[in-house]
Amino acid sequence: MTLTEHRGPVAERTRVAVIGGGASGVLTAINLLVRSDDPALEVVIHEASGIVGRGIAYGTNDQRHLLNVRARHMSAFPDSPSDLLDWALRTGRSSDPQGFLPRADYAIYLQDRLADVADDRLRVRAGRVLDVVPSAAGFEIVTERSRSHADAVVLCHGNQPPRPLTLADGAPVPEAPWHVANPWELARLRALPAEAHVVVVGTGLTAVDTVITLLEDGPEREVTMLSRHGLLPKPHVGQAHTAWVTKVPEGPVTADAIAAAVTEECQAAAERGVGWRAVVDGLRPATQDLWRRLPHAERERFLQVYARDWEVRRHRMAPDVALRLQRYRYEGRLHVRPGTLEGVTDLGERCRVTAGAETHDADAVVNCTGPLSDVRRSADPLIQALLARGTVAPDPLALGLDATPEGQVLDAAGLPVPDLHLVGPPRKGTLWESTAIPEIRAQAAQVAATVVQRTSRRTIAN
Ligand SMILES: Cc1cc2nc3c(=O)[nH]c(=O)nc-3n(C[C@H](O)[C@H](O)[C@H](O)COP(=O)(O)OP(=O)(O)OC[C@H]3O[C@@H](n4cnc5c(N)ncnc54)[C@H](O)[C@@H]3O)c2cc1C
Repeated sequence: MTLTEHRGPVAERTRVAVIGGGASGVLTAINLLVRSDDPALEVVIHEASGIVGRGIAYGTNDQRHLLNVRARHMSAFPDSPSDLLDWALRTGRSSDPQGFLPRADYAIYLQDRLADVADDRLRVRAGRVLDVVPSAAGFEIVTERSRSHADAVVLCHGNQPPRPLTLADGAPVPEAPWHVANPWELARLRALPAEAHVVVVGTGLTAVDTVITLLEDGPEREVTMLSRHGLLPKPHVGQAHTAWVTKVPEGPVTADAIAAAVTEECQAAAERGVGWRAVVDGLRPATQDLWRRLPHAERERFLQVYARDWEVRRHRMAPDVALRLQRYRYEGRLHVRPGTLEGVTDLGERCRVTAGAETHDADAVVNCTGPLSDVRRSADPLIQALLARGTVAPDPLALGLDATPEGQVLDAAGLPVPDLHLVGPPRKGTLWESTAIPEIRAQAAQVAATVVQRTSRRTIAN
């Protein structure tokens, strides 16, 4: 009996709901469609905005916001590394493998690749999913306007908006015209006065994007960036040696031992004229395994002592972006300060910010503290509903949701939820390295393979 003989009315279809249509959702859907030739399969992407492929990372319409990963590492398919470069060449974009394409172009790439494999088995539903309710027959997907059935669900809800901005004493920064709570609302930034002075809280990659949008568009503007450590991401540089094989400690590990081993490797590399970047990149394939081998208390120590230093080296900015920042600093339009937000006085359209010994009269304070990872503090109705029912649980460090290493969701009792999977940044707690495309595309391929295997068994059984 062939699978095709089971082609039947829509009601008999096996439906996979993909919750979220950012990079994780699109890559999962592509893999589902490519890996299955079952006409009874239906893949439904539920995307709040209705537009797939963008998400937070690639939803920017500022062409100066570049990918922070070289083009040669950003293919949608692990087994076809030149796919993005081939697409870029075909569509008249730069196909420099060492280059950094605009992030908005990457969204078009994902949309094109989805369109290439889409057939009548794919649906995109606009609207926010408010709940995913397990039932005897699968799941009920609840949106504002509808309820529908799914046999399997892949959560691809991605990065959460930043946690609300607070002062050093924990008091919330009030909502006000000068308070930009969502740094990805570029229209708010662009609408600021031509001579605005802006305080950007955070010095990570989102803060860097914000500075570029503000200062390229307003040559008279001034920005003060503020974070506890005052560290900007390190820039990528041209690397003669990219294939450094970083020695990975064997056996039981501690955070201190890993840090010492990395320092040693950097010294060994330097003696051979190889920069630390090659050591950091060389560690990437082993990072998830090292994380899994760290006992819980050691993971906590890593977060407390080493995480920030690791992040600024691991998540680097494109050289062009780094040059822009250097120029702004040289021109006296950008200041980077270590410190915390101690006070903000509401002056109506403006505010007065106190941080350390400095006071700034500012036209805006922008929350660039980075995506919220502690799901217990999420305001997302879907996350709240899933947590309240115990369908999902925070991972032990509350960096995301608990899941098996293969991406099956674990419930509040620590048990795998059949046919409920997770792809993307919310797997950070179990994998640590779960943020960027090289990891996400592998997760999407793996989860899709599992789902296809289980759903086709079901089709045959029917
Ligand atoms: C600013 C920024 C820049 C980045 N740049 C790079 C880069 O250059 N290279 C790289 O490899 N990685 C980059 N990353 C890392 C990024 O995490 C991944 O590359 C990837 O974009 C994550 O995709 P995602 O789909 O998991 O999450 P998101 O991009 O957050 O997308 C999630 C999507 O799900 C939707 N959604 C969420 N909840 C629901 C719901 N309940 N119902 C319906 N829809 C829902 C949202 O509307 C959104 O479209 C960047 C991250 C950020 C934040």
